[in-house]
This record gives sequence, structure tokens and C-alpha cells, in this order.
Amino acid sequence: MKYSLRTKISAAFFAMAVVLFLFISITANFFIQNMFTEYTKQRIEDEKKGILSSLPGKYESGSGTWDIKGIESIGTSAMERGLLLKVEDTSGKMLWDAMVYNNGYCSAMLSHMEMNMLAQNPNFGGGYSEKTFELTRGSQTIGMATIGFYGPYYYSDGDMEFINMLNKVLLGAGVLAFLLSLAIGWFLGQRLSAPIEKVIQHAKGISKGDFRRRITETSTTKEILELTDTINVLGETLERQEILRKRLSADIAHELRTPITTLVSHLDLMLEGIWEADEMRLRGIQEEALRLGSLVGELNRLEQVEEGNLLMERKILDLREIGDQVVRNLEGEYRKKGIQLIYSGEKTRIEGDRDKLTQVLLNLLSNGLHYTPEGGWVKLTIQENLGKAFIRVEDNGIGIPAEHLPLIFERFYRVDESRARNSGGLGIGLAITKTLVEAHQGVILVNSVLGKGTAFDLYFPLENN
Ligand code: ADP
Repeated sequence: MKYSLRTKISAAFFAMAVVLFLFISITANFFIQNMFTEYTKQRIEDEKKGILSSLPGKYESGSGTWDIKGIESIGTSAMERGLLLKVEDTSGKMLWDAMVYNNGYCSAMLSHMEMNMLAQNPNFGGGYSEKTFELTRGSQTIGMATIGFYGPYYYSDGDMEFINMLNKVLLGAGVLAFLLSLAIGWFLGQRLSAPIEKVIQHAKGISKGDFRRRITETSTTKEILELTDTINVLGETLERQEILRKRLSADIAHELRTPITTLVSHLDLMLEGIWEADEMRLRGIQEEALRLGSLVGELNRLEQVEEGNLLMERKILDLREIGDQVVRNLEGEYRKKGIQLIYSGEKTRIEGDRDKLTQVLLNLLSNGLHYTPEGGWVKLTIQENLGKAFIRVEDNGIGIPAEHLPLIFERFYRVDESRARNSGGLGIGLAITKTLVEAHQGVILVNSVLGKGTAFDLYFPLENN
């Protein structure tokens, strides 16, 4: 079963209100009942003491007789308070008995008490009981008093009214709390789910290819804000990828069209006998075909690297040896273009794939060569630095505008299409380089100032780390 966020939050609030209501009403009832029980028990005790202490005053010691009217006034007032009095003299003769005095009232009173208590608790288990006390004056016994009552305790009508009212107030407050909890839950759920629904709509839009949409509403909920930010970043990334993909098709078409057109027109000329198929022309055709081949090869290489098909042959190796070899290979080209290649290599051992690391240095040094004008320099430094293997490839070439810096590691990204085209680059060298560096758990950073030069810094874990 799937429930909406709104329903779940409302249900949680409602459940909390129910639990709180039950907790408060049960504890309130428990404490109040306890209080009442103690209070009524004490009241009965006090009444009994009062009766027992006032009864001897109705005995006339001179004549040895009781003032029956006096006993009656004590007995009737006790009866009004729920206690049934009987008094006997020392010979056992009944002087006054509440039951005899007004049997109807007494029985009605006892059954009313029982009804009250059973209404409170059907298993109350109380009942009428009597206790007999000796009445004395000084050391002389003057009679016996029996006090009967409904016990162990009972609630008066006033007590009952209070308890019932309390229950009504609690119930009212409970109903109000339930309604409030539902309303608050609904409101909160609405506030939470509205931005999430927005995100869902956007995500659906993105899944249908509408990458340009952005969520502009902000939220005070951290997670929702993170979610909207993530969706926006996702949209941006996909939009950028989409642009790059479109550009790739255009790039490939453009890169392939020129050599293919040249090839076709040259071959046509030869077939029509206008051109002679001499060695020089055939070599020209071969060069174009080779260029096509290397373009396709470069695309293939990118695909391999990016699809994670990277087969790494990890060995402990010295970066200085790789540096030596790459510098040796490129020296000629540098000399030809009139650019100085400065090299400082220290022994730096890491675990990695020799060919892939060679590729990294080749890419960076070739870029240095391409993007540095004649008379400039490119510096390669290899050393241990801050517990890492460190490589820096620095040049004093044309530099990269700051706004392009975050993008140069993207596939097919070229700062200036015309200048890259002259150099024949497709904008994938740095994408490959970054993937290879990361496959070695390394990082690559770039610093550049337009017109002053560019520096790429690479860090790799050392061999024993
Ligand atoms: P490309 O094949 O075009 O050289 P890369 O991925 O190697 O592709 O580089 C991407 C872009 O970054 C290049 O088109 C270029 O504009 C810029 N770039 C790379 N290296 C340098 C550098 N050393 N100096 C200036 N610009 C550079």
C-alpha cells in the first residue's frame, strides 16, 4: 500500500494525539481517584472520631442515664454524612439505632452510595460494614457505640459531579486535540509535499528530455533544498552533456567531411584521367586516410576510457623514468616549433599502469606545445610533495579564460573552436587525461591566466600508501 506524505504525517500526528490523550486522561484519573480515596477514607475516620468523642457528653453520670435526644441529634447529623449509628447501654439495651429511627432513609442512602461506586467501577467490591467501640468516661465503661458505613470508601454526589466533569473536560480537550492534530498534520504534510511534488514534476520533465527547466522555489527544509539543488545540478549536467553530444555530432561531421571531400575529389580526378595517379598524389590521399583513421582511433580511445573498459596493468614504477621517456619522444617536436622544454624529474614511485601514465604526460605536454607560441617554454616537474607523487606541467602560453576553466575536462570541450581546429584537437585529450588520472586514484587541478600561461597539477598516492 502506498500512502502520500500528507496522509502519513497526518496519521502520525493523530496517533501522537491519541497516545497523549490516553496518557494524560489515565494518569489524571489515576491521581485524582487516589486523592479522593485517601480524602474520603480520612473523612470517614474523622467523622467516627467526632461521634465517639461527643457521645460520652450525653451520659449523665449522676443518674447513670443517657440523654436519648442528645444521642439522636448526634445520630441524625452522622446519618446525613453517611454514617449509621447505634448506641447501647452497658446492659446491652439499644438506646438509639439509625436503622430503626429512619429505616427508609438509611436503606436509600446505602443503595445510592453503592450505585455511585458501581457506576465508577463495576468491580468495586465495596459493601456495608460496622465497627463497635466502647464508650467510656474516665475509667468507667458507659456503653457501646456501633458505627456502620458503606466502605472501604465512597464518593459523595459532589465528588461524583467533580469526577464526571473532569472526564467531560478531558474528553472535550481530547476531541479538540484530535481535530487540531489532524489539521496541523494536514498542513505540515501539505507544506512538505508541495515542493517534493514540484521536484517530481521537474524530474519527470528531465526524464522526458526537458533539461532546461530549473526549480526556482526555495525551501526552509534542508533535505528538500538539497533535493531541489541536486535536481537542478542534474538538469544542468544533462543539459551540458546534451550540448556536448550535439556538438560532437557536428564536430565529427565537420572533422570527417573535409578529408572525405578531399579524398573523393582527388580520386574522381584520377579516375577521370585528369590527374595522374603518381606517388605524390597517392601519398596525399594516404595522409588524408591516415588522418581519418587517427580521428576514429581517438574517438575509440575515449569510448574505451569512458566506458570503464580500462584495463590497468598495475606495477610499481618510477614516474621519473616515464618523464624521461616522454621528454625524449617530444624533444624533436618542441625544437621544431622553437619552444623550450624544461624538465626536472626526481625519483617518485607509485603503483600504476606505465602506458596510461605515459599517455597522461604526452597529452599534457602536447597541449603545452600546441597552446604555447614560438619562443615560449613548457616545464615538467616530477617530485614527491606533501606525501604525494606530484607532477606539474606548466607553460607560459596563451592561457585559458577563467570562465572556461571548469569545463576543459569535459569531453569535446574546446575553448576556442577555431584555434583548436587548427591544431586538429577534438577536445577529448583532457577528458581522457582526467579519467586516466582518476583511475590511479589521483587528482588533476588546473590554474591558468589568460595570456600568461597554464599549469596542470597532478597528485597520486605514493607507492607505499
Ligand atoms: P584539444 O584536443 O582541443 O587540445 P583537450 O581536451 O586536450 O583538447 O583540451 C581542451 C581545451 O583546453 C583545448 O581546446 C584548449 O582550448 C584548452 N587547453 C588545454 N591545454 C591548454 C594549455 N596548456 N594552454 C591553453 N589552453 C589549453
